[in-house]
Amino acid sequence: MEPGVLRVLRAAETAARWHVGQRRKGDAQEPYINHLLEVARLVGDATGGRDPDLVIAALLHDAIEDCEIAPATIEAEFGADVRALVQAVTDDKNLPKATRKQLQIDHAPGKPRRAKILKLADKTSNLRALAASPPANWPMARRLEYVAWARAVVAGIRGTNAGLEALFDEAAARAEAAARASG
Ligand code: ZN
Repeated sequence: MEPGVLRVLRAAETAARWHVGQRRKGDAQEPYINHLLEVARLVGDATGGRDPDLVIAALLHDAIEDCEIAPATIEAEFGADVRALVQAVTDDKNLPKATRKQLQIDHAPGKPRRAKILKLADKTSNLRALAASPPANWPMARRLEYVAWARAVVAGIRGTNAGLEALFDEAAARAEAAARASG
């Protein structure tokens, strides 16, 4: 079987190709792969490097939603475990945005533990980006609303990983302070 480190690298390269034209919404317009690598490192650290499939799922977590990659493609390349993890953190894009956001709050508590770790890392990365480089067209109220929503999602999955939850809280506090300072 392919060693874990090589599968992780193959996933990183695959993610870079799939998201090649995409940038983060923030003013700095960071390449999207920066977000995927940050989430992957957060889950890798949180699990002590012992769960390569979870790191791979972190690298691919937005591929279905943002690149319209088929779940079957992810399974063929990286296995059923990775495919299931990615699907567990993928919204149904056929639903309106407000519904999707509410469903994240409602469904997060019932997700498998590893999907919760991935979710915590994703929300932490998003809040760090919101603090450091908010979208230029987001007024204070929208930024605060985003922080409140992320906190509501995470409130339902506490008790999953203390270290990541502390990093999330720190990122949320910073994003909130930066938003308030912008008003
Ligand atoms: Zn993400």
